[in-house]
Amino acid sequence: MSAPRQVCILGSTGSIGQSTLDVIARHPDRFMVRSLSCGSRWQDLLQQCRRWTPAYAAVGDAAAGQQLRMALRAEGIATEVLVGESGLEHIAADPGADTVMAAIVGAVGLAPTVAAARAGKRLLLANKESLVMAGSFFMAAVREGGAELLPIDSEHNAIFQCLPGGYRTGDTPPGVRRLLLTASGGPFRSVPLESLDAVTPEQAVAHPNWVMGRKISVDSATMMNKGLEMIEACWLFGLPVDKVEVLIHPQSVIHSLVEYVDGSALAQLGSPDMRVPIACAMAWPERIASGAPALDLVAAANLGFEAPDLRRFPCLALAMQAARDGGSLPIALNAANEVAVEAFLDGRIRYTAIPRVIAEVLGSHRAGEPESMEHVKAIDGDARVSARASLGRC
Ligand code: NAD
Ligand code: MG
Repeated sequence: MSAPRQVCILGSTGSIGQSTLDVIARHPDRFMVRSLSCGSRWQDLLQQCRRWTPAYAAVGDAAAGQQLRMALRAEGIATEVLVGESGLEHIAADPGADTVMAAIVGAVGLAPTVAAARAGKRLLLANKESLVMAGSFFMAAVREGGAELLPIDSEHNAIFQCLPGGYRTGDTPPGVRRLLLTASGGPFRSVPLESLDAVTPEQAVAHPNWVMGRKISVDSATMMNKGLEMIEACWLFGLPVDKVEVLIHPQSVIHSLVEYVDGSALAQLGSPDMRVPIACAMAWPERIASGAPALDLVAAANLGFEAPDLRRFPCLALAMQAARDGGSLPIALNAANEVAVEAFLDGRIRYTAIPRVIAEVLGSHRAGEPESMEHVKAIDGDARVSARASLGRC
């Protein structure tokens, strides 16, 4: 067997990061942990460093990084601590790593994820926000850096598995009529519309099928997550947005479908457990055990499907519009959503204010074509200012 892959995990303390470590732990002959990272919860990272003794640990927050450095030194653990965005970019581009799991949540994941693409890594992409914000620059970095981009998002991983053998992300696959992205519909799929005003953060993060971080759980409840995934799918699979459709499928058994021009539709099925797409991408094109329970179709019994109701899910309608208009609108959409979701999780705005904040930001946004990564960051920053200003009004 070849030498083990050296893995960098961006966002190792999060839901995807922990599932990645769970898969790695099952295959010590195949994978080694080269570097780990987090935002500010250094105590969680300390525990992971004890277990994995990586060469590097990167912490977004400099003060938290200093705490981690002292704690590691006190315990005699040789892991080197790096801090800030430059520390994250350093571990992403580190020549000692050949595989990078991009699992930081939100726009802060953009720079290190693109650094991994430029450095030509096998790049396992969970951080969909990077593609939504900077799709053209991101895909150019993948091409120019010679990276191997593999999707982790369960829907995109499903589609990838249903495309012809040898398919490379970014290329337009031949013979595809459309992609069908499945969505569970989240916890509020069938509650009375009037009750949405009083929804609490705890209710919104209680996803019926998946256990995930708080931000993506709220995005799943509003279906902004599916909107971001439509944009992600266009970049990953080289298709226009009118070839990507959303289908509500409450049981989360079918993770997405590819419909070909001859009328064949291929689907990937599995338990709703992110270790399935993670193990698939980590070992690709080989197959390894993921630890996920086997699919039990007898227990699932009935699979349901319905079209999304855009009145119930205005965030999905806003994302579809931004996807069609393109340019800088997806950047503004993503930034406004991050600000609104954080405010909702902090109890500062109501659940139903989330789409209102985003609509206000998009309404006043002066759309244009982003010219560089710096320009993307500037547009993101401006949209955040505008979203914070609208929090009080919505
Ligand atoms: P999470 O909130 O559980 O974890 C986020 C991770 O990002 C943590 O390790 C955190 O420390 C790190 N982080 C946050 N701010 C940071 C900063 N400033 N600098 C460095 N690190 C920082 O989130 P998650 O559910 O694991 O999701 C991660 C990404 O994967 C998101 O983009 C999400 O959309 C995507 N994703 C998640 C799932 C899922 O099932 N959880 C499925 C598909 C896609
Ligand atoms: Mg998904």
